Amino acid sequence: MPECLFCRIIAQEIPAEIIYEDEQAVAFRDINPQAPVHVLVVPRRHLPNLGAAQAEDEDLVGHLCAVAAELARRERIAKSGYRLVANVGPDAGESVHHLHFHLLGGRRLTWPPG
Ligand code: 5GP
Ligand code: ZN
Repeated sequence: MPECLFCRIIAQEIPAEIIYEDEQAVAFRDINPQAPVHVLVVPRRHLPNLGAAQAEDEDLVGHLCAVAAELARRERIAKSGYRLVANVGPDAGESVHHLHFHLLGGRRLTWPPG
């Protein structure tokens, strides 16, 4: 059984509201949403974070971004706007060490982030 929380969600060992799946990516709603739309887009393959991505992972990272943009359209926040965030390391508050992009929208987001 994988130790990683998101690997376990991907394997459907832990329940989550999965809204998208393909061969490379899975997306599910964040358990503690920070905006009306808060979706996590993750690779099926375990990568600890964006900083661990290698040159051969560039297509995968690009695909995750494209999935996020498509989900923004499906969630009807493409026109109002949204933010795509990858937290890397302690200063950014990375808490789950499986690469994930936060797709946030549905309200006015402040800048700069806290
Ligand atoms: P990070 O802080 O690593 O950038 O983001 C981790 C995110 O995972 C947080 O927003 C947190 O709410 C979310 N999260 C943590 N545990 C679970 C869980 O069991 N299920 C879901 N759906 N999201 C989770
Ligand atoms: Zn994992």
